[in-house]
Amino acid sequence: METREYQAVVIGAGPGGYPAAIRLAQLGVKTLCIEKEYFGGVCLNVGCVPSKALIAASKKFKELKGTVQEMGVVLPEGDVSFDMAKTQAWKSSIVEKNTSGVKMLLKGNGADRLFGTARFDGPGALIVETEDGPVRVKGEHIVIATGSRPIEIPGFSYKDDRVMDSTKALDLDHVPERLVVIGGGYIGLELGTMLAKVGSQVTVVEMADQVLPGFDKDVIRVISRRLKKMGVKVLTGARAMGWEEGDGVAQVKIQNAKGEEQIIEADKILVTVGRFPNTEQVGLDTLEGLQMDGRFIQIDKQCKTNIPGVYAIGDVAGQPMLAHKATHEGEVVAEVIAGHNVQLDHIQVPAVVFVDPEVATAGLQEHEAKEAGYDILVGKMPFAANARALTTGDADGFVKVVVNAADNRILGVTICGPSASDLISEASLAVEMQAEALDVALTIHPHPTLGEAVMEATKHAIGEAVHVMNKKKK
Ligand code: FAD
Repeated sequence: METREYQAVVIGAGPGGYPAAIRLAQLGVKTLCIEKEYFGGVCLNVGCVPSKALIAASKKFKELKGTVQEMGVVLPEGDVSFDMAKTQAWKSSIVEKNTSGVKMLLKGNGADRLFGTARFDGPGALIVETEDGPVRVKGEHIVIATGSRPIEIPGFSYKDDRVMDSTKALDLDHVPERLVVIGGGYIGLELGTMLAKVGSQVTVVEMADQVLPGFDKDVIRVISRRLKKMGVKVLTGARAMGWEEGDGVAQVKIQNAKGEEQIIEADKILVTVGRFPNTEQVGLDTLEGLQMDGRFIQIDKQCKTNIPGVYAIGDVAGQPMLAHKATHEGEVVAEVIAGHNVQLDHIQVPAVVFVDPEVATAGLQEHEAKEAGYDILVGKMPFAANARALTTGDADGFVKVVVNAADNRILGVTICGPSASDLISEASLAVEMQAEALDVALTIHPHPTLGEAVMEATKHAIGEAVHVMNKKKK
């Protein structure tokens, strides 16, 4: 068997693995990146990027059906229609641009690529099954970046045509008439609302007492209102029990919050109840004594496992399972391997939900700060009082800023509203820099912009808001 030797080997080319390999090569480390399915990983191929493309297309369609006409844009006679097959072709072209960019960047920076499935053969060694047969790869440092896959639940096999995981849903060639989404977390809501906007009748079944479990109640109020307006039905405290084929539709059996059985008819069932880290089939059993943290591989602040020379990053190495967290770990692990004295040292990992309106958080939400025992000041600015939001016809939602009363530092920001996904970066920086409320309040923000809402909410927290009434002093 052919043997190849490298200083560093990265298993998996997702948003954790490929930046790790690029950075390693940039730092002069002889590096190989092994990928079994698609360069760019889940994120670029069947996750973040294709989902956001479809969400953007459905948003534009919905706007044409409604808000742009209210703004006086007159459309030609006849109804606006949506062509899923064309949208899919457009989405695929974006995925292709991104994934070919990854391959080019690996090559351009001098990292080698190998297409095949890697398994450990003891510490420091891998067997890679390639199209041309097995290859033995030796690495002084090996980074596990194998990502995650959708969880399957009993009674809902992805092998059935009616049942979809997120990957199948992102590849639909038509708009299903009736859709049941099992799991009201961010992936279920993003894909469910995308399909609702283009015509599906969507029912979301969520076991917890709210969709987007863990998010601020004020956010849930806005989102629930918008879901209702979109015609999306939400069953909380409900459990999906199974489904049967009957009369040409899927009869989905639900146990509702009252414990009663309920049947919902559906053409497709989307299951989005979470993701499992890919720790099987990587030969981890040959790494004797490898420490796990539940289902995840346990790592320290330098992304090292307890086995010398073996590292883990991204979804396989713990929550939050988000692309930007994987990338950050990828960049840190590369520096660690290159011998730099660095470690993971962040205060927060921002999170975004691309529903309508978007939701984004940085640092602690209000309830989390209270649970952590902080005495807090809370500032809130509704987008309805922000000139820019009104001029775009999209003024639902708010910015909420949580400040530590003891030292005026910003503990967290929650945004529910237009462009929350972009606005949150200023908040991330503020939390990460441990900025005081005045740092943001005294920063001149351009007018008229959505960013002014972040400044104004911060001023509101300290009783200095001008565009919203301040709370009465006690
Ligand atoms: P992955 O992206 O899963 O990549 C792992 C790679 O390893 C894969 O390409 C896999 O083929 C390869 N691999 C696995 N085993 C082997 C092996 N034995 N040999 C060789 N190669 C192997 N996150 C966000 O931050 N923002 C979003 O908006 C967002 N939207 C999402 C939408 C959807 C529908 C989904 C499913 C996920 C979304 N995520 C989002 C989550 C994000 O995709 C993941 O957190 C991210 O991809 C994790 O990166 P990773 O590098 O750890 O793993």
